[in-house]
Amino acid sequence: MKIMKFGGTSVGSPERMRNVARLICETDGPKIVVLSAMSGTTNSLLAIAAELEKGNVHEAEILISTLKENYHKVAEDLFSTPKWRDSAIKFIDEVFNLLVKISHRPYSSLSEREIVAQGEILSTNLVYGYFQEQNIDIEMISALDFMKTDEHGEPDLNIIKSELQKILDSQPGKGLFLTQGFICRNPKGEIDNLMRGGSDYTASIIGAVVNADEVQIWTDIDGMHNNDPRFVEETVPVHNLHFEEAAELAYFGAKILHPTCILPAKLNNIPVRLLNTMDPKAEGTTIGNTLDTGSIKAVAAKDNITAIKIKSSRMLLAYGFLKKVFEIFEKYETPIDMIATSEVGVSLTIDNDKHLKEIVADLEELGTVTIDTDMVIICVVGDLDWQNRGFEAKALDALRNIPVRMISYGGSNYNVSFLIRKQDKVKALRLLSYHLF
Ligand code: ASP
Ligand code: MG
Repeated sequence: MKIMKFGGTSVGSPERMRNVARLICETDGPKIVVLSAMSGTTNSLLAIAAELEKGNVHEAEILISTLKENYHKVAEDLFSTPKWRDSAIKFIDEVFNLLVKISHRPYSSLSEREIVAQGEILSTNLVYGYFQEQNIDIEMISALDFMKTDEHGEPDLNIIKSELQKILDSQPGKGLFLTQGFICRNPKGEIDNLMRGGSDYTASIIGAVVNADEVQIWTDIDGMHNNDPRFVEETVPVHNLHFEEAAELAYFGAKILHPTCILPAKLNNIPVRLLNTMDPKAEGTTIGNTLDTGSIKAVAAKDNITAIKIKSSRMLLAYGFLKKVFEIFEKYETPIDMIATSEVGVSLTIDNDKHLKEIVADLEELGTVTIDTDMVIICVVGDLDWQNRGFEAKALDALRNIPVRMISYGGSNYNVSFLIRKQDKVKALRLLSYHLF
Protein backbone atom coordinates (compact mmCIF):
# COMPACT_ATOMS: atom_id res chain seq x y z
CA MET A 1 0.00 0.00 0.00
CA LYS A 2 1.17 3.50 -0.83
CA ILE A 3 -0.14 6.65 0.79
CA MET A 4 -0.26 9.65 -1.56
CA LYS A 5 -0.90 13.02 0.08
CA PHE A 6 -1.50 16.13 -2.00
CA GLY A 7 -1.24 19.58 -0.43
CA GLY A 8 -3.41 22.63 -0.99
CA THR A 9 -1.58 24.01 -4.02
CA SER A 10 -1.53 20.55 -5.66
CA VAL A 11 -5.35 20.61 -5.65
CA GLY A 12 -5.53 24.41 -5.91
CA SER A 13 -7.36 24.64 -9.26
CA PRO A 14 -9.40 22.39 -11.57
CA GLU A 15 -6.36 21.93 -13.78
CA ARG A 16 -4.25 20.91 -10.80
CA MET A 17 -6.93 18.48 -9.67
CA ARG A 18 -6.97 16.80 -13.08
CA ASN A 19 -3.20 16.61 -12.95
CA VAL A 20 -3.34 14.98 -9.50
CA ALA A 21 -5.88 12.45 -10.76
CA ARG A 22 -3.51 11.57 -13.61
CA LEU A 23 -0.57 11.17 -11.22
CA ILE A 24 -2.62 8.87 -9.01
CA CYS A 25 -3.62 6.70 -11.97
CA GLU A 26 -0.02 6.47 -13.15
CA THR A 27 1.13 5.14 -9.77
CA ASP A 28 1.09 1.35 -9.48
CA GLY A 29 -0.38 -0.72 -6.68
CA PRO A 30 -3.00 -0.13 -4.01
CA LYS A 31 -3.19 3.43 -2.70
CA ILE A 32 -4.84 5.59 -0.13
CA VAL A 33 -4.98 9.21 -1.32
CA VAL A 34 -5.11 12.00 1.28
CA LEU A 35 -6.07 15.52 0.20
CA SER A 36 -5.72 18.95 1.80
CA ALA A 37 -8.26 21.69 1.21
CA MET A 38 -7.72 23.77 -1.96
CA SER A 39 -5.10 26.42 -1.18
CA GLY A 40 -6.62 29.49 0.45
CA THR A 41 -9.78 27.71 1.56
CA THR A 42 -8.72 26.92 5.12
CA ASN A 43 -7.76 30.58 5.61
CA SER A 44 -11.11 31.73 4.19
CA LEU A 45 -13.02 29.35 6.45
CA LEU A 46 -11.08 30.57 9.47
CA ALA A 47 -11.90 34.15 8.48
CA ILE A 48 -15.59 33.20 8.45
CA ALA A 49 -15.26 31.68 11.91
CA ALA A 50 -13.42 34.78 13.14
CA GLU A 51 -16.29 37.04 12.01
CA LEU A 52 -18.77 34.77 13.78
CA GLU A 53 -16.73 34.84 16.94
CA LYS A 54 -17.00 38.65 16.88
CA GLY A 55 -20.75 38.33 16.34
CA ASN A 56 -20.57 39.63 12.74
CA VAL A 57 -23.03 37.22 11.15
CA HIS A 58 -23.66 39.46 8.14
CA GLU A 59 -19.92 39.78 7.35
CA ALA A 60 -19.58 36.01 7.70
CA GLU A 61 -22.42 35.46 5.25
CA ILE A 62 -20.74 37.71 2.68
CA LEU A 63 -17.54 35.66 2.97
CA ILE A 64 -19.55 32.44 2.70
CA SER A 65 -21.25 33.51 -0.52
CA THR A 66 -17.98 34.69 -2.11
CA LEU A 67 -16.35 31.36 -1.34
CA LYS A 68 -19.38 29.48 -2.62
CA GLU A 69 -19.16 31.33 -5.95
CA ASN A 70 -15.49 30.32 -6.23
CA TYR A 71 -16.43 26.68 -5.72
CA HIS A 72 -19.16 26.89 -8.32
CA LYS A 73 -16.53 28.12 -10.78
CA VAL A 74 -14.25 25.24 -9.86
CA ALA A 75 -17.04 22.73 -10.50
CA GLU A 76 -17.96 24.41 -13.82
CA ASP A 77 -14.40 24.02 -15.02
CA LEU A 78 -13.53 20.64 -13.49
CA PHE A 79 -16.34 18.59 -15.00
CA SER A 80 -17.18 18.12 -18.64
CA THR A 81 -20.49 16.31 -18.28
CA PRO A 82 -23.68 17.92 -16.88
CA LYS A 83 -24.44 14.90 -14.71
CA TRP A 84 -21.26 15.13 -12.64
CA ARG A 85 -21.15 18.93 -12.72
CA ASP A 86 -24.68 19.16 -11.33
CA SER A 87 -24.05 16.61 -8.65
CA ALA A 88 -20.89 18.51 -7.58
CA ILE A 89 -22.81 21.79 -7.47
CA LYS A 90 -25.50 20.16 -5.40
CA PHE A 91 -22.85 18.94 -2.97
CA ILE A 92 -21.21 22.38 -2.82
CA ASP A 93 -24.56 23.99 -2.07
CA GLU A 94 -25.19 21.56 0.77
CA VAL A 95 -21.81 22.41 2.31
CA PHE A 96 -22.46 26.15 2.06
CA ASN A 97 -26.00 25.80 3.42
CA LEU A 98 -24.47 24.06 6.39
CA LEU A 99 -22.05 26.97 6.85
CA VAL A 100 -24.97 29.42 6.85
CA LYS A 101 -26.78 27.23 9.38
CA ILE A 102 -23.73 27.15 11.65
CA SER A 103 -23.52 30.96 11.36
CA HIS A 104 -26.96 31.32 12.90
CA ARG A 105 -26.21 29.03 15.81
CA PRO A 106 -24.59 30.38 19.01
CA TYR A 107 -20.85 30.47 18.34
CA SER A 108 -18.51 28.03 20.11
CA SER A 109 -15.11 26.51 19.45
CA LEU A 110 -16.98 23.61 17.86
CA SER A 111 -18.44 26.03 15.29
CA GLU A 112 -14.92 26.91 14.19
CA ARG A 113 -13.89 23.27 13.94
CA GLU A 114 -16.99 22.35 11.95
CA ILE A 115 -16.48 25.28 9.61
CA VAL A 116 -12.79 24.66 8.94
CA ALA A 117 -13.41 20.94 8.29
CA GLN A 118 -15.44 21.79 5.18
CA GLY A 119 -12.29 22.63 3.18
CA GLU A 120 -11.08 19.03 3.03
CA ILE A 121 -14.65 17.76 2.64
CA LEU A 122 -15.05 19.96 -0.46
CA SER A 123 -11.71 19.12 -2.09
CA THR A 124 -12.10 15.35 -1.63
CA ASN A 125 -15.67 15.33 -2.92
CA LEU A 126 -14.73 17.32 -6.02
CA VAL A 127 -11.86 14.98 -6.83
CA TYR A 128 -14.07 11.98 -6.03
CA GLY A 129 -16.65 13.22 -8.54
CA TYR A 130 -13.96 13.79 -11.11
CA PHE A 131 -12.68 10.21 -10.76
CA GLN A 132 -16.22 8.92 -11.15
CA GLU A 133 -16.74 11.07 -14.23
CA GLN A 134 -13.58 9.49 -15.66
CA ASN A 135 -14.94 6.01 -14.88
CA ILE A 136 -12.10 5.25 -12.50
CA ASP A 137 -12.90 2.90 -9.67
CA ILE A 138 -12.31 4.76 -6.40
CA GLU A 139 -13.75 4.51 -2.89
CA MET A 140 -14.27 7.54 -0.70
CA ILE A 141 -13.67 6.92 3.00
CA SER A 142 -14.48 9.67 5.46
CA ALA A 143 -11.64 10.58 7.82
CA LEU A 144 -14.35 11.35 10.38
CA ASP A 145 -15.12 7.61 10.53
CA PHE A 146 -11.64 6.47 11.54
CA MET A 147 -9.32 9.38 12.39
CA LYS A 148 -9.86 9.67 16.15
CA THR A 149 -7.92 11.67 18.72
CA ASP A 150 -7.52 11.10 22.45
CA GLU A 151 -8.19 13.57 25.27
CA HIS A 152 -4.83 15.29 24.60
CA GLY A 153 -5.78 15.93 20.97
CA GLU A 154 -3.26 13.31 19.84
CA PRO A 155 -4.21 10.63 17.32
CA ASP A 156 -5.25 7.40 18.99
CA LEU A 157 -3.32 4.95 16.84
CA ASN A 158 -5.00 1.81 18.18
CA ILE A 159 -8.51 3.05 17.44
CA ILE A 160 -7.47 4.49 14.08
CA LYS A 161 -5.86 1.19 13.10
CA SER A 162 -8.88 -0.93 13.96
CA GLU A 163 -11.47 1.46 12.51
CA LEU A 164 -9.57 1.95 9.27
CA GLN A 165 -8.88 -1.76 8.92
CA LYS A 166 -12.60 -2.47 9.32
CA ILE A 167 -13.41 -0.01 6.54
CA LEU A 168 -10.74 -1.40 4.21
CA ASP A 169 -11.77 -5.01 4.93
CA SER A 170 -15.36 -4.17 4.05
CA GLN A 171 -14.20 -3.30 0.50
CA PRO A 172 -12.22 -6.34 -0.59
CA GLY A 173 -10.45 -6.14 -3.92
CA LYS A 174 -10.50 -2.33 -4.00
CA GLY A 175 -7.18 -0.67 -4.69
CA LEU A 176 -7.85 3.07 -4.60
CA PHE A 177 -9.20 4.97 -1.61
CA LEU A 178 -9.62 8.70 -1.11
CA THR A 179 -9.85 10.51 2.22
CA GLN A 180 -9.49 13.91 3.89
CA GLY A 181 -6.34 15.11 5.60
CA PHE A 182 -6.43 17.28 8.71
CA ILE A 183 -9.91 16.45 10.00
CA CYS A 184 -10.79 13.98 12.75
CA ARG A 185 -13.12 13.35 15.67
CA ASN A 186 -12.23 13.90 19.32
CA PRO A 187 -13.23 11.54 22.18
CA LYS A 188 -16.53 13.41 22.52
CA GLY A 189 -17.32 12.46 18.92
CA GLU A 190 -17.10 16.10 17.82
CA ILE A 191 -15.48 17.21 14.59
CA ASP A 192 -11.92 18.30 15.30
CA ASN A 193 -8.62 18.67 13.46
CA LEU A 194 -4.92 17.93 13.70
CA MET A 195 -3.97 21.64 13.62
CA ARG A 196 -2.77 23.75 10.70
CA GLY A 197 -0.79 21.80 8.15
CA GLY A 198 -2.12 18.58 9.69
CA SER A 199 -2.75 16.70 6.44
CA ASP A 200 0.86 15.53 6.38
CA TYR A 201 0.24 14.10 9.83
CA THR A 202 -2.90 12.31 8.58
CA ALA A 203 -0.89 10.72 5.76
CA SER A 204 1.85 9.56 8.06
CA ILE A 205 -0.60 8.16 10.63
CA ILE A 206 -2.45 6.23 7.93
CA GLY A 207 0.88 4.98 6.59
CA ALA A 208 1.81 3.76 10.07
CA VAL A 209 -1.46 1.99 10.84
CA VAL A 210 -1.70 0.16 7.50
CA ASN A 211 2.05 -0.49 7.49
CA ALA A 212 2.41 1.16 4.09
CA ASP A 213 5.37 0.66 1.76
CA GLU A 214 5.82 4.40 1.60
CA VAL A 215 4.17 7.72 2.32
CA GLN A 216 4.36 10.19 -0.55
CA ILE A 217 3.93 13.87 0.25
CA TRP A 218 3.26 15.74 -3.00
CA THR A 219 3.82 19.51 -3.00
CA ASP A 220 5.02 22.07 -5.51
CA ILE A 221 8.75 21.87 -4.89
CA ASP A 222 11.12 19.05 -5.79
CA GLY A 223 11.89 17.93 -2.23
CA MET A 224 13.52 19.46 0.80
CA HIS A 225 16.22 21.89 -0.25
CA ASN A 226 19.59 22.38 1.37
CA ASN A 227 18.72 25.97 2.26
CA ASP A 228 15.72 28.28 2.12
CA PRO A 229 15.04 28.99 -1.58
CA ARG A 230 13.18 32.18 -0.63
CA PHE A 231 16.41 33.76 0.58
CA VAL A 232 19.26 31.85 -0.99
CA GLU A 233 19.90 31.36 -4.70
CA GLU A 234 20.89 28.04 -6.17
CA THR A 235 19.67 25.78 -3.42
CA VAL A 236 19.40 22.11 -4.38
CA PRO A 237 17.16 19.29 -3.18
CA VAL A 238 18.62 16.89 -0.64
CA HIS A 239 17.85 13.41 -1.95
CA ASN A 240 18.22 11.41 1.27
CA LEU A 241 17.55 12.45 4.81
CA HIS A 242 17.48 10.52 8.05
CA PHE A 243 14.23 10.83 10.04
CA GLU A 244 16.06 12.79 12.74
CA GLU A 245 17.55 15.21 10.21
CA ALA A 246 14.17 15.73 8.59
CA ALA A 247 12.54 16.30 11.99
CA GLU A 248 15.07 19.04 12.81
CA LEU A 249 14.60 20.66 9.40
CA ALA A 250 10.81 20.45 9.46
CA TYR A 251 10.64 21.97 12.89
CA PHE A 252 13.26 24.61 12.14
CA GLY A 253 11.43 26.14 9.28
CA ALA A 254 11.56 23.93 6.19
CA LYS A 255 7.95 24.64 5.22
CA ILE A 256 7.57 21.63 2.96
CA LEU A 257 6.76 19.07 5.63
CA HIS A 258 4.85 19.38 8.88
CA PRO A 259 7.09 18.38 11.81
CA THR A 260 4.51 16.04 13.38
CA CYS A 261 4.51 13.94 10.23
CA ILE A 262 7.90 12.39 10.93
CA LEU A 263 7.19 10.47 14.13
CA PRO A 264 4.57 7.88 13.06
CA ALA A 265 6.60 7.06 9.95
CA LYS A 266 9.85 6.84 11.89
CA LEU A 267 8.41 4.57 14.59
CA ASN A 268 7.16 2.18 11.93
CA ASN A 269 10.15 2.63 9.65
CA ILE A 270 8.07 3.74 6.66
CA PRO A 271 9.94 5.88 4.13
CA VAL A 272 8.47 9.32 3.49
CA ARG A 273 9.04 10.71 0.00
CA LEU A 274 8.65 14.38 -0.82
CA LEU A 275 7.65 14.75 -4.46
CA ASN A 276 6.73 17.54 -6.83
CA THR A 277 3.37 17.53 -8.64
CA MET A 278 4.79 20.00 -11.19
CA ASP A 279 7.76 17.74 -11.94
CA PRO A 280 6.73 14.18 -11.02
CA LYS A 281 9.86 12.63 -12.51
CA ALA A 282 12.15 14.61 -10.19
CA GLU A 283 13.81 12.44 -7.54
CA GLY A 284 12.62 14.54 -4.59
CA THR A 285 13.65 13.71 -1.05
CA THR A 286 13.41 10.32 0.63
CA ILE A 287 13.33 10.33 4.42
CA GLY A 288 14.24 7.06 6.06
CA ASN A 289 16.41 5.34 8.62
CA THR A 290 19.70 5.37 6.75
CA LEU A 291 22.23 8.04 7.54
CA ASP A 292 24.78 9.29 5.04
CA THR A 293 27.83 9.88 7.13
CA GLY A 294 30.40 12.59 6.67
CA SER A 295 28.28 15.35 5.23
CA ILE A 296 26.31 18.41 6.16
CA LYS A 297 22.91 18.23 4.50
CA ALA A 298 20.98 21.42 4.95
CA VAL A 299 20.37 24.67 6.74
CA ALA A 300 17.03 26.06 7.93
CA ALA A 301 15.88 29.05 9.95
CA LYS A 302 13.09 29.56 12.44
CA ASP A 303 11.80 33.10 13.08
CA ASN A 304 10.09 34.81 15.99
CA ILE A 305 12.21 33.31 18.69
CA THR A 306 12.47 34.82 22.15
CA ALA A 307 15.62 34.22 24.19
CA ILE A 308 15.42 34.27 27.97
CA LYS A 309 18.48 34.44 30.23
CA ILE A 310 18.28 33.73 33.95
CA LYS A 311 21.38 34.66 35.92
CA SER A 312 21.75 33.68 39.52
CA SER A 313 24.67 33.37 41.86
CA ARG A 314 22.53 30.77 43.61
CA MET A 315 23.05 28.50 40.61
CA LEU A 316 26.76 28.22 41.40
CA LEU A 317 27.49 24.70 42.65
CA ALA A 318 23.79 24.21 43.44
CA TYR A 319 21.60 21.38 42.30
CA GLY A 320 17.92 21.59 41.47
CA PHE A 321 18.16 25.07 39.92
CA LEU A 322 17.39 23.93 36.37
CA LYS A 323 14.47 21.88 37.63
CA LYS A 324 12.93 25.02 39.12
CA VAL A 325 13.45 26.86 35.83
CA PHE A 326 11.91 24.06 33.76
CA GLU A 327 8.94 23.74 36.08
CA ILE A 328 7.96 27.32 35.32
CA PHE A 329 7.85 26.57 31.59
CA GLU A 330 5.91 23.41 32.26
CA LYS A 331 3.40 25.33 34.36
CA TYR A 332 2.69 27.63 31.40
CA GLU A 333 2.78 24.77 28.85
CA THR A 334 5.52 26.50 26.89
CA PRO A 335 8.04 24.30 25.05
CA ILE A 336 11.72 25.18 25.19
CA ASP A 337 13.74 24.81 21.98
CA MET A 338 17.39 25.68 22.57
CA ILE A 339 19.23 25.74 25.84
CA ALA A 340 22.73 26.76 26.95
CA THR A 341 24.00 26.77 30.50
CA SER A 342 26.98 28.11 32.40
CA GLU A 343 27.78 27.85 36.10
CA VAL A 344 25.92 31.05 36.89
CA GLY A 345 23.21 31.29 34.32
CA VAL A 346 21.06 29.59 31.78
CA SER A 347 19.75 30.85 28.44
CA LEU A 348 16.88 29.26 26.62
CA THR A 349 14.56 29.98 23.75
CA ILE A 350 10.83 29.72 23.16
CA ASP A 351 8.76 30.30 20.03
CA ASN A 352 5.44 30.74 21.81
CA ASP A 353 5.48 33.92 23.89
CA LYS A 354 1.81 33.80 24.90
CA HIS A 355 2.72 33.45 28.59
CA LEU A 356 6.01 35.36 28.48
CA LYS A 357 4.91 37.91 31.09
CA GLU A 358 3.89 35.29 33.64
CA ILE A 359 6.98 33.20 32.90
CA VAL A 360 9.29 36.17 33.46
CA ALA A 361 7.50 37.14 36.68
CA ASP A 362 8.01 33.61 38.05
CA LEU A 363 11.62 33.38 36.82
CA GLU A 364 12.50 36.66 38.54
CA GLU A 365 12.12 34.84 41.84
CA LEU A 366 15.10 32.71 40.79
CA GLY A 367 17.45 35.37 39.44
CA THR A 368 17.93 38.29 37.07
CA VAL A 369 16.02 37.80 33.82
CA THR A 370 16.95 39.30 30.45
CA ILE A 371 14.86 38.95 27.29
CA ASP A 372 15.89 39.23 23.62
CA THR A 373 13.01 39.21 21.16
CA ASP A 374 12.95 38.89 17.35
CA MET A 375 15.67 36.32 17.28
CA VAL A 376 16.17 33.55 14.72
CA ILE A 377 17.40 30.00 15.18
CA ILE A 378 19.67 28.85 12.38
CA CYS A 379 19.81 25.10 12.32
CA VAL A 380 22.58 23.22 10.50
CA VAL A 381 21.68 19.59 9.91
CA GLY A 382 23.77 16.61 8.90
CA ASP A 383 26.14 14.04 10.31
CA LEU A 384 27.19 16.09 13.35
CA ASP A 385 28.33 13.21 15.51
CA TRP A 386 30.73 14.67 18.07
CA GLN A 387 33.53 12.32 17.00
CA ASN A 388 33.63 13.88 13.57
CA ARG A 389 36.19 16.58 13.19
CA GLY A 390 35.65 20.00 11.79
CA PHE A 391 31.98 20.14 10.84
CA GLU A 392 30.81 22.28 13.73
CA ALA A 393 33.90 24.45 13.28
CA LYS A 394 33.08 24.98 9.61
CA ALA A 395 29.57 26.17 10.44
CA LEU A 396 30.84 28.46 13.15
CA ASP A 397 33.53 29.81 10.87
CA ALA A 398 30.91 30.69 8.23
CA LEU A 399 29.23 32.91 10.82
CA ARG A 400 32.44 34.60 11.97
CA ASN A 401 31.16 38.11 11.21
CA ILE A 402 27.69 37.67 12.67
CA PRO A 403 26.87 38.22 16.34
CA VAL A 404 25.77 34.88 17.77
CA ARG A 405 23.65 34.97 20.91
CA MET A 406 23.59 31.23 21.68
CA ILE A 407 25.00 27.97 20.32
CA SER A 408 23.54 24.52 20.90
CA TYR A 409 25.52 21.44 19.94
CA GLY A 410 25.64 17.86 21.16
CA GLY A 411 21.94 17.51 21.94
CA SER A 412 21.69 15.10 19.04
CA ASN A 413 24.08 13.68 16.48
CA TYR A 414 22.34 15.57 13.75
CA ASN A 415 22.47 19.27 14.34
CA VAL A 416 24.14 22.39 15.58
CA SER A 417 21.98 25.48 16.12
CA PHE A 418 22.83 29.15 16.37
CA LEU A 419 20.67 31.93 17.72
CA ILE A 420 21.14 35.22 15.89
CA ARG A 421 19.31 38.51 15.34
CA LYS A 422 16.50 38.70 12.80
CA GLN A 423 18.37 41.29 10.73
CA ASP A 424 21.30 38.89 10.25
CA LYS A 425 19.21 35.93 9.10
CA VAL A 426 19.47 36.21 5.32
CA LYS A 427 23.19 36.98 5.48
CA ALA A 428 23.74 34.00 7.77
CA LEU A 429 21.82 31.61 5.51
CA ARG A 430 23.82 32.77 2.47
CA LEU A 431 27.14 32.52 4.26
CA LEU A 432 26.36 29.01 5.43
CA SER A 433 25.41 27.89 1.91
CA TYR A 434 28.60 29.44 0.56
CA HIS A 435 30.86 27.79 3.14
CA LEU A 436 29.16 24.43 3.55
CA PHE A 437 27.89 23.40 0.12
N1 ASP B 1 -6.01 22.56 5.16
C1 ASP B 1 -5.28 22.53 6.39
C2 ASP B 1 -4.40 23.77 6.49
O1 ASP B 1 -4.36 24.57 5.57
C3 ASP B 1 -4.49 21.30 6.56
C4 ASP B 1 -3.40 21.08 5.52
O2 ASP B 1 -3.44 21.61 4.43
O3 ASP B 1 -2.46 20.33 5.82
O4 ASP B 1 -3.75 23.95 7.49
MG1 MG C 1 0.96 21.65 4.03
